[in-house]
Amino acid sequence: MNQKVEKVVGYDVERIRQDFPVLDQQVHGKQLVYLDNAATSQKPTAVIDSLVEYYQNDNANIHRGVHTLSERATLSYENARKTVQQFLNASSEKEIVFARGATEAINLVANAFTEKLSAGDEVLITAMEHHSNIVPWQMLCEKTGAELKVAPINEQGELILEEFEKLISKNTKFAAISHMSNALGTINPIKQMIELLHQHNVPVLVDGAQAIPHISVDVQALDCEFYVFSGHKLYAPTGIGALYGKMEQLEQMAPYQGGGDMISAVTFDKTVYNKVPYKFEAGTPNIAGTIGLGAAIDYVNNIGIDAIAAHEDSLLSYATEQAKRINKLRVIGTAKNKGAILSFVLEGIHPHDIGTMMDHQGIAVRAGHHCAMPVMDFFGVPATARASFAMYNTHQEVDALMAGIENLIEMFG
Ligand code: PMP
Repeated sequence: MNQKVEKVVGYDVERIRQDFPVLDQQVHGKQLVYLDNAATSQKPTAVIDSLVEYYQNDNANIHRGVHTLSERATLSYENARKTVQQFLNASSEKEIVFARGATEAINLVANAFTEKLSAGDEVLITAMEHHSNIVPWQMLCEKTGAELKVAPINEQGELILEEFEKLISKNTKFAAISHMSNALGTINPIKQMIELLHQHNVPVLVDGAQAIPHISVDVQALDCEFYVFSGHKLYAPTGIGALYGKMEQLEQMAPYQGGGDMISAVTFDKTVYNKVPYKFEAGTPNIAGTIGLGAAIDYVNNIGIDAIAAHEDSLLSYATEQAKRINKLRVIGTAKNKGAILSFVLEGIHPHDIGTMMDHQGIAVRAGHHCAMPVMDFFGVPATARASFAMYNTHQEVDALMAGIENLIEMFG
């Protein structure tokens, strides 16, 4: 291993790997090297066990039941809300709304702002957003006649802050910005961006889907109106995520869906909605997934998000150093402030072929546009290959990735 890159002292990655049973397998006769964590991360035994335990002992519907199982299930569900609250440092657990994931949470907010926007208003996003943080705002603009403004990025894949600032005006009625880009790894200066937006009283939603497993988040310090994330990128099950919203915002917002649990009284003439956050949680929720999310956050907290981030930074620096030695490799996204994502293209080899050929070597990387087609257009590539690191990846796996890439170049080159 290159001596320039220090491993994090005291971080026992081999011990952590034992908590993730899926990692211990062969793919195409080779030890699995799982580097598709930005798409979804693997689940520790603690999370898997929490699901089994819930279904084996406590399974019942929540909130409405008076029997013991329902009370237990409700308690576990609401405890998970408190866990999320503490993880984000929200001031009240009532500011945490459970949703299917980042996508649903963004749509929930965009839907509520339909009532608040009209022709002449503007919604500001950045050029590095995931489709989930573009399309709902385009739909909002279509419905209301508002205009979508897009703040540009530079060749490194960094937001051009002065251009972002220039786009904020009295017409700006909402902004949606990513904390960390899934296609480039760029970490945005969101605190500064939120301050600029607040100078014009613009409410802000932060898409934390990529940031949440890597960066310690304090929504009160950030002062954002909304923060969204998906559990499955944070070692939790799929189908569960959360929306943080400031109470004063959530209270004014229209419900997203109608149904059970989001009401306090219904007649055929009129429905009185339930209080926040239940107003936004219509129908039977993903109870097991929510409990799994709580277990995942407990697991992350036990290791410590800062320790995880330091380990991942070390992996990224090492991978970036190693990638420089490969002539035909071009890294897409070279921001100064970057999370654990290495997007790249190889001269003469289509990214999809990279994905397939790496899989034959047991290495799981993603190939495609990463639901960020405008980013691909900006860099003039149809797609990239992307290796993304999590708490359980090792420096040896980075070596395996680089060796795999060199094999490909030899085969195709
Ligand atoms: N935003 C970003 C930056 C993402 O990376 C993703 C997932 N790739 C999403 C939003 C959407 O997350 P989900 O599909 O889990 O709702």
